[in-house]
Amino acid sequence: MSKNKSSESVKVVVRCRPLSRKEESSGPAGGIVQMDLRLGQVILRNPRAPPSEPQKTFTFDAVYDANSKQRELYDESVRPLIDSVLAGFNGTIFAYGQTGTGKTYTMQGAWLDPEKRGVIPNAFDHVFTHISRSQSDKQYLVRASYLEIYLEEIRDLLDPNHTNARGLELRENPDTGVYVQDLTSCVCKSIKEIEEVMNVGNQARAVGATDMNEHSSRSHALFLITVECSQPGPDGRKHIRVGRLNLVDLAGSERQAKTGVQGERLKEAAKINLSLSALGNVISALADGRSGHVPYRDSKLTRLLQDSLGGNAKTVMVATLGPAPQHYDETLTTLRYANRAKNIQNQPRVNEDPKDALLREFQREIARLRAQLNYRKWRSKQKNEQMEGESWDGDREKETEGEEDEEVEKEAEEYVKLEEQRLEREKEAIRGDEYMVAEEKQRLLGEKERMMVDLRKEQEATEQLTAKYKAMESKLLVGGKNIIDHTNEQQKMLEMKRQEIAEQTRNEREIQQQMLAQDEETLELRETFTSLQQEVEAKTKKLKKLYTKLQCIKAEIKDVNDEHVKSRQELEQTQNELTRELKFKYLIIENFIPPEEKNKIMNRLIFDPEEDQWKFQPLVPAESKSSQMKKRPTSAVGYKRPLSQYARVAIAMGGHSRYRAENIMFLELDVTPPNTTLFDRSKDAELNQSPSLDNSPTKEKGIRKSHSWCQTPKSMTSSSSNVSLAACHTATPAAAHDCLTDFSVRPTAGTQTHHRHLC
Ligand code: ADP
Ligand code: MG
Repeated sequence: MSKNKSSESVKVVVRCRPLSRKEESSGPAGGIVQMDLRLGQVILRNPRAPPSEPQKTFTFDAVYDANSKQRELYDESVRPLIDSVLAGFNGTIFAYGQTGTGKTYTMQGAWLDPEKRGVIPNAFDHVFTHISRSQSDKQYLVRASYLEIYLEEIRDLLDPNHTNARGLELRENPDTGVYVQDLTSCVCKSIKEIEEVMNVGNQARAVGATDMNEHSSRSHALFLITVECSQPGPDGRKHIRVGRLNLVDLAGSERQAKTGVQGERLKEAAKINLSLSALGNVISALADGRSGHVPYRDSKLTRLLQDSLGGNAKTVMVATLGPAPQHYDETLTTLRYANRAKNIQNQPRVNEDPKDALLREFQREIARLRAQLNYRKWRSKQKNEQMEGESWDGDREKETEGEEDEEVEKEAEEYVKLEEQRLEREKEAIRGDEYMVAEEKQRLLGEKERMMVDLRKEQEATEQLTAKYKAMESKLLVGGKNIIDHTNEQQKMLEMKRQEIAEQTRNEREIQQQMLAQDEETLELRETFTSLQQEVEAKTKKLKKLYTKLQCIKAEIKDVNDEHVKSRQELEQTQNELTRELKFKYLIIENFIPPEEKNKIMNRLIFDPEEDQWKFQPLVPAESKSSQMKKRPTSAVGYKRPLSQYARVAIAMGGHSRYRAENIMFLELDVTPPNTTLFDRSKDAELNQSPSLDNSPTKEKGIRKSHSWCQTPKSMTSSSSNVSLAACHTATPAAAHDCLTDFSVRPTAGTQTHHRHLC
């Protein structure tokens, strides 16, 4: 499975957006970020520091200033990564930076303006253009998924019910790494289709959030593209390579203010900070290289990006900056973050013939459907042969696969037509036969009619099979066939030239950076001094230079220390607030929840090592759940509802008021002789008129005695689990009431049946 085991570092590029109109008007100071595009350096000026303080310089793989074009960034820094994905590597591009610095602009851009299209739409173009220009022996399957992580919950943006559904779970597979369980993935056959998928996801994101800007700065969005490619290898077998591309637009990196917030807001801020600080910790641990433990498990984001950071993937990080002086601190933090990420080493390798390749399943299914179709064709031929006595034309079996596909449908249609004609002819012959008895004629005609119906059914089945086969096959993209490449030769040349230039720029920058580093090293060696005076001068100059460097590093150390102190204070504050809340919850538990209830809850808690958190066990144990849920409770004829265990206990307990579900109190009417007039009595009788009531003894007395449905003999034991009422489907409630008194106790097999009369 592994090829090319060499490791390579995460590519880090920095982009600075132009000053916004508001920023321009608010301060005359201008931007604080300067860029040296040739060397790939960012120079940051501290607006609060005296001019004598040295500026901070950072070097990256590439830098893009305010005038940079979307296309430049794509061609220079992203294109090689997408090419690797198409060759079967895993690839990740993530945009990191403060809110409003251009993460979404870089990743998505303005779709309608070709100049402003971001990394994602350009990647779509790139993938499908590559497929259309590749050789025709290659088959591709492209899938897309879209998810967001908000408050440590994974939401599927392509699932229409995602807003009501619970967050998705992460799972780990030894072969493919961490993946999201049950995530929707859409097979896309063209740029248009994949753009549609993106739009659907973006809309779902906007609908789920009340304020899109606010929401997008607090949630991480991941667009995943899987490209599977099958190509015949030298061994003659088809080999599949799977490239996975993660396009990540992270939440704003600014710290969520936690001071003064409580409860849900505090937890929300803590969770948002959590995933980004977890990402920072992972980057630090990897960049450091010495700490053995990398805290991937601290957040969902870091688990999902596990392969992209220090694993099997090629990764590009785009750090975005704003040039405004008021964001100096955040800009510096972003630059430090990006600088650290440069040191991460990944081990990308081609994913060859993985077990879970969907393309393989598709190919198998297509082969199966084709075999079924061919069998049908063969069967119809055979029938034809039997009917007409023709000999089977063996030569025709030698048709090639492709031709066969097209022929199958045509021949099936032809066969049906011929058969129909033949049956019609036979029917006519039967009708015209004067010597046949009418009954016999009818029977034969009926038989032919049945044959006709069967034939049509068969045809329908074949049509369905063909449709399914075609639908499956259309999902696979064949190199240079399915997608028509609209670009002409001139445009293609232009594209290639542009790519070459991008490649050259990249190489030049690399060489420049190397030269700079070497210069500093070799300067010392090359120096020869003619006089002592010259040597003193040179050494003094060098000393000054080194002193400046020392000052820079000291300032850096101080900055880092300050930052650490600040984040520690913040963490302590969060801890204090969370401890306070925890104590409050404990107080409620100790004082308001009965100990037995607490124990029940505690007993249901289990630790899920997969998720790294405590979870509740379901109330019904998982294995017996299905059987218990399916079993219908034993109904008791005449009762208003099926008998539960509770009710059975109630019956066994007798008329204990605790178990009474209705008529909790017996409100016996006074047994005083009625002193109503005849008129009233007859009216009353009319109201309660019912044939079965006529000879009810209670009615006679004008008193209706209240019975509880759970009135039972005292002698009954609680183990009489299959107590049921004798059949008494009497229509009226009063009659049913009387029937309540007639119990039949059906004990378990082997014992005798008793009948008890309660009244
Ligand atoms: P984020 O996603 O980081 O919060 P956005 O991408 O929404 O930030 O960018 C904020 C604003 O800045 C948008 O109006 C966007 O058009 C503008 N912007 C960002 N980067 C650039 C750039 N490189 N060139 C021009 N405008 C930009
Ligand atoms: Mg954004």
